[in-house]
Amino acid sequence: MASPLSGLVVNVAEVLRRVGNVKDIDVAIDSTLLELGDDRVGGQDVPVSFHLESTNTGIVVRGTVSAEYHDTCRRCLKDVTDRASVDIGEIYQREITDPDAYPLEGEQLNLAPLVREHLLLALPDAPLCRADCPGLCPVCGADKSDPAEAECGCSVGAPDPRWEALEALRDRFDDR
Ligand SMILES: [Zn+2]
Ligand SMILES: [Zn+2]
Repeated sequence: MASPLSGLVVNVAEVLRRVGNVKDIDVAIDSTLLELGDDRVGGQDVPVSFHLESTNTGIVVRGTVSAEYHDTCRRCLKDVTDRASVDIGEIYQREITDPDAYPLEGEQLNLAPLVREHLLLALPDAPLCRADCPGLCPVCGADKSDPAEAECGCSVGAPDPRWEALEALRDRFDDR
């Protein structure tokens, strides 16, 4: 009987047979099966590309996952649609000795928790519509990225220190 997560469960009997055995997986996963619980990621096919290798300590999984997300620009509040992608290098173990390892149950390797956790971490905390988005005028709220509004004529005095602190935080996130 097919489990609802069958698209994410990989039989690794052949990989486990000998250290050094490998298996490649290139599939598109229906995002609803991932149960992301995050409305920034809507229904879509999530491309998953993994290389599995049996080692002395478990099965090492390396690869990439990416998904389209929708959010709001932190500076100008316009809608942002972009793609988050993440490189993955993790290990699955039958007997967990590595605290970061994912559990391997029998000969079934479930990719769902791995893909879910990494995708959610890959979504940006402070999305921008573009890297140099000038944002809104702090005085009148004009959209500085719109040529018709950019010269709103407001004189911006000394920046509010609270905004400066936020800017510093934002720059730190951008640098990651
Ligand atoms: Zn923006
Ligand atoms: Zn203004």
